[in-house]
Amino acid sequence: MKINNPKSQYFIIIENAKKMNRIKMYGKTHSQKTKKLMSTQKLGENNPNYGKPRDVVTKNKISKSMVGNVNPLGIKRKRVKCPHCVVSGAKNVMVRWHFNNCKHKP
Ligand SMILES: [Zn+2]
Repeated sequence: MKINNPKSQYFIIIENAKKMNRIKMYGKTHSQKTKKLMSTQKLGENNPNYGKPRDVVTKNKISKSMVGNVNPLGIKRKRVKCPHCVVSGAKNVMVRWHFNNCKHKP
């Protein structure tokens, strides 16, 4: 979108919305203090999900979304499978306990 171009329709829409006080946070960021405050307001008993058990459907959705979870740098850990047993896992751990060190190795 060409938001910075004063002739673009998006620019005009956003400027009008700003004038009408519709989007007060557009182009702004919350300060660290505000972020901390917003975070603490939703902790513990104040959280809308506090004390509510998660149903199986939700758990499955979370589980499905976490499969092949990517770390904050966006690097997927390579998963490997041990040739001596049925175990598979992240390469760094698998190399230590499987492959040449596997207890099922003949
Ligand atoms: Zn193994």
